[in-house]
Amino acid sequence: MNDTIAAISTTLGVGAISIIRVSGKEAIKIVNKIFKGKDLTKVDSHTIHYGHIINKTEIIDEVLVSVMKSPKTFTTEDIVEINCHGGIATTNKVLELVIHHGARLAEAGEFTKRAFLNGRIDLIEAESVMNLISSKSESNRKVSIQGIRGYVSQIIKNLRQEVLELLATIEVNIDYPEYEDIEVMTNNKIKPKILKIKEKLKKIIQESEDGKILSNGIKTIIVGRPNVGKSSILNRLLEEERAIVTDIEGTTRDTVEGHITVYGVPLNIIDTAGIREAKDLVEKIGVEKSLSLIEEADLIILVLNNNEKLTIDDYKILEICKDKKTIVVINKSDLEEKIEIDKISYKNIIYTNTIDLDGMNQLKEKIIELFHLNQLEQKDYACLNNIRQISLAKIAYQILEEVEKAIQENIPIDMVEIDIRRAWETLGEIIGETYTEELIDQLFSQFCLGK
Ligand code: GDP
Repeated sequence: MNDTIAAISTTLGVGAISIIRVSGKEAIKIVNKIFKGKDLTKVDSHTIHYGHIINKTEIIDEVLVSVMKSPKTFTTEDIVEINCHGGIATTNKVLELVIHHGARLAEAGEFTKRAFLNGRIDLIEAESVMNLISSKSESNRKVSIQGIRGYVSQIIKNLRQEVLELLATIEVNIDYPEYEDIEVMTNNKIKPKILKIKEKLKKIIQESEDGKILSNGIKTIIVGRPNVGKSSILNRLLEEERAIVTDIEGTTRDTVEGHITVYGVPLNIIDTAGIREAKDLVEKIGVEKSLSLIEEADLIILVLNNNEKLTIDDYKILEICKDKKTIVVINKSDLEEKIEIDKISYKNIIYTNTIDLDGMNQLKEKIIELFHLNQLEQKDYACLNNIRQISLAKIAYQILEEVEKAIQENIPIDMVEIDIRRAWETLGEIIGETYTEELIDQLFSQFCLGK
């Protein structure tokens, strides 16, 4: 981490301005070698300077250079940012010169990685930076900025503190049992404290699950046998929202995906209509891909034809989806009702027709109801914001459940203490108090270059 790194921090393409960011001990010295203007080694921190980037005698570009000195910078190291004219040729040339004069090309996410390793931000804050950059929705943006501002980390830190205090009192008991003035910690005394911590953690997990929907949207899949009207339903939903239909990369069949927003929450809808080419749909549904789509989905829109009796395929699909959050849509309500509705034991059933759009609003209302979207609006958006964080919180919760059980069974207190410590460590992993090198490398490599 002692070398100086550089990267283009803006999108590489045609634009008015590009920024090349340089961070490290030599940052100012390196840029100064190719800068014609003030002597950058003598300027104050957090100042911006007009001048030219030069290659020996040739002027490469007219630029503004910001100088930010350690430690009050994003990475805590010296940082220089060169604002040059946008466009591929100029930006690449400036970067090339910076590298030629001693900087190394930064890896993806390396600036943020340094910010983390130098203690400037914790892991939740770092991940929130990544989230913010890739935010496509207003709700995702809100969750990410709360993360960056440290609110979420604070919630975890407070909880850890409570666990730590409990650990400390237990340890005093174990280490100095002869002291008369210390409260004797018995399993009975620990129990209410554990329950309180557990309750708080449970609330965090629940709010974070809601928050996950806010940030990632609701993964929705439309299933049903051929010709029941799946594509028509997707198209109707999309038309209203003027959304874009795109092919999903990497799928062999032309599964179609669209995005709409319901109550500010993105709904990513996958239409499995592509599967209709197969002779036997259910056989196809049986293939891993369709099943895993159903498995991964937050919501299933299961479409049936009002104008036909239920078929074996319909029954099979109804069976496959029975444990998932599903809305059964009886489509073609404009045609005569032939479906045996009393044979469908699902709770959420609505009728639609895609010709005069009957039922489209009810479908959206149902989604709002199922995901409490109208209540999510009042959220403060301070929640764990990815699967890594949420699953660690769940592990910590499970450990506390074990602790509770151990207390009930009167397991000796020093044994219980080991588990409480484990819960404390797991909570620490969420904010990156403890981490492995592989995790950090893997995590930051998902960042974009220059961040
Ligand atoms: P998919 O194979 O399930 O995606 O079904 P499509 O959306 O391609 O629709 C199959 C056929 O049913 C098309 O001819 C549609 O025009 C027709 N269709 C779709 N929805 C309705 C509806 O609500 N009422 C009627 N009468 N026809 C519909």
